[in-house]
Amino acid sequence: MSHNQVVQEFHPRVHEAITNPQIRANFRKAMDGLMDKRQLAFPSDDELQRTRELAAAIRLRALSKLPELLEKLEANLTANGVKVHWAETGDEACKIILDICNEKNAKSVIKGKSMVSEEMELNHYLEEHGIEALESDLGEYIVQLAEETPSHIIMPAIHKNTDQISDLMHEKTGTNKSRDVEYLTAEARQQLRERFEKADVGVSGVNFAVAETGTLCLVENEGNGRLTTTVPPVHIAVTGIEKVVENLEDVAPLLSLLTRSATGQHITTYFNMISSPRKEGELDGPEEVHLVLVDSGRSNIYQDDELLDTLRCIRCGACMNHCPVYTRIGGHAYGYTYPGPIGKILMPHLAGLDDAKDLPSASSLCGACGEVCPVKIPIPKLLVRLREESVAGDHNHDNSVVKGRGAKRKGMEPLIWKGWAKMHKHGGLYRTGTGLATVFRGLVPSNLGAWTNCRTAPKLAKTTLHQQMKARSQNNAASQKKDGGDQ
Ligand code: SF4
Repeated sequence: MSHNQVVQEFHPRVHEAITNPQIRANFRKAMDGLMDKRQLAFPSDDELQRTRELAAAIRLRALSKLPELLEKLEANLTANGVKVHWAETGDEACKIILDICNEKNAKSVIKGKSMVSEEMELNHYLEEHGIEALESDLGEYIVQLAEETPSHIIMPAIHKNTDQISDLMHEKTGTNKSRDVEYLTAEARQQLRERFEKADVGVSGVNFAVAETGTLCLVENEGNGRLTTTVPPVHIAVTGIEKVVENLEDVAPLLSLLTRSATGQHITTYFNMISSPRKEGELDGPEEVHLVLVDSGRSNIYQDDELLDTLRCIRCGACMNHCPVYTRIGGHAYGYTYPGPIGKILMPHLAGLDDAKDLPSASSLCGACGEVCPVKIPIPKLLVRLREESVAGDHNHDNSVVKGRGAKRKGMEPLIWKGWAKMHKHGGLYRTGTGLATVFRGLVPSNLGAWTNCRTAPKLAKTTLHQQMKARSQNNAASQKKDGGDQ
């Protein structure tokens, strides 16, 4: 389903999700578990805050020299024998991957987990061009069997419980129905293992791309990432341009925060570092390695000093796990590749505010996302900024780079706010305005559209605050005079 299709359905989708007890129960249980695991992984708040400071500084340093580091990354990867490609849009990235596949006469692609490939809808694109693309991450595999999209950036199938997965696997692959997670996992592994051997190309994501050494780091738990990047003769890694870090030393603190924030693990089962294709004399590894660096609106974000913080993200998912809105509506209700708080600040750039205008408003601004973010992205602040952009007049953020700004502006609203501001600047006008409002209070309707859908309409007082204070001071003066006379 394309972004444009889903965006029209944001409110009905949210309504459907919050009234679905199964979705609410699945997410509540899963998010509670993830929050507990994260808390246990950070027993010392001092250590957590110190590491967050360090990680934020590493990401800021990398972003501050992004163009230089990307050039360095390309030079070092090329020297290592990796072919580097640049894609301005998701479509361009799809085309690059298709061309590589066609050149190799590839008919089947096996994929490791990659949110950027979800963002560019790579599977559909390849299938439309006659190439089979199979997800090998267990969660992604389940989502693909269900013909759905991921509902969480770390745990794509978290919206499904064991019974639902068992029914799905039974229906689509003939697996016996079972509530035994180990059995279901072993079955999926068996089904996938055969496909690895036949795949012509492996496509993976990248967690960190190290400029200094030309190394692509990949974090995973299932071993499918290692198989994807080593078994097929061609490996194509695809990632956003912001994933670059300066040197190998930068990786350790980021990795530690990523895994602990995401799943409460101190380290994942697999950590892959890919620097080149198979070298002479080596027994395994692909004959060719490619890296596709995708922009897709990221360099636009990069031009804004405040919004630039969005690019610090290391995709741990902690902001989603702690978000009261995400926990209640789940990932699909958002209708975009990246749901939850990170999606609310990223998607308006990738899809444009005119499509994603509702996302920054789908937040209570409780601040939990900003507090848990391991790289200290001020998410609530960025949400407020994007809300402002969604109704912005020309005078606000004149140099703004946000696409589709002003998408939520309504004709009358700026006029009302202008009048309100003027009234507050002039005492006489203010008193006349509030006086008239109290006189004509009976004309205020009890139904104020969206405002009163979930609120009671405010009742205006019979007199203004100014009149009440004046009356009170007159009463006080009169009673003091009276008390003085009585003595
Ligand atoms: S915004 Fe922060 S908490 Fe959310 S996914 Fe990115 S790094 Fe993790």
